[in-house]
Amino acid sequence: MSRRMLIAGNWKMHGLRSDLGFFDALAVHAGKGNAEVLVCPPSTLLSAAAERCAGTAIRLGGQDCHTGATGAHTGDVAAVMLHDAGARYVILGHSERRSDHAESSSLVCAKAGAALAAGLTPIVCVGETREQREAGEAFDIVAAQLGGSLPAATDSGIVIAYEPVWAIGTGLTASASDVARMHAFIRTRLPEPATTRVLYGGSVKPGNAAELMALDDVDGALVGGASLDIDAFASIIATAG
Ligand code: PEP
Repeated sequence: MSRRMLIAGNWKMHGLRSDLGFFDALAVHAGKGNAEVLVCPPSTLLSAAAERCAGTAIRLGGQDCHTGATGAHTGDVAAVMLHDAGARYVILGHSERRSDHAESSSLVCAKAGAALAAGLTPIVCVGETREQREAGEAFDIVAAQLGGSLPAATDSGIVIAYEPVWAIGTGLTASASDVARMHAFIRTRLPEPATTRVLYGGSVKPGNAAELMALDDVDGALVGGASLDIDAFASIIATAG
């Protein structure tokens, strides 16, 4: 079964309305190949980005959501609000949320359930730290995160992103053979292995994207820093076919 490649940009806490012209340039590249192209800007930009991307092939996503649909949760954003603003995906359990906000896998699982209920496709992130890899625990850690973070019903197009924490924003990338082994392992742990897309994330750049995107079990990339630069992001998109 063929899985459509997904190239997703995670803008993290970057982006102002003055940056919306990025989407005009991206639209040209998003329409060219077969890969699905997604940008997850800060939630403050979603509505304006959705207007700007109307009629293009660019998809939009959030970077986190609350478990509830509404309520007294100052500063939080509900999945249904992201959907209302134009998002169709949401990144969940990113290592920066797991570390900065002490998010557990069970919380990520509840958020994924809320996202699915709101019509969003969750992109659930998993990955080991450098210490865990050096201790030989990478596979156990990823298995535990997958086991705890995925809601029971996963035939809904849920996406997994394998992001070794030590490779995020560091310029270090896992070797192609390490990525291949981990992605093959992840697939054995998925309820819907044939159809679930598994992205790689961690310092994906134009120089390493082609090798990583060519791996059998890699169905795209979650791109941080390089997704802020239109030339770099466009060149990564081109490697996905
Ligand atoms: C990320 O934010 O998910 C990420 C992988 O960042 P970077 O590409 O900058 O390492």
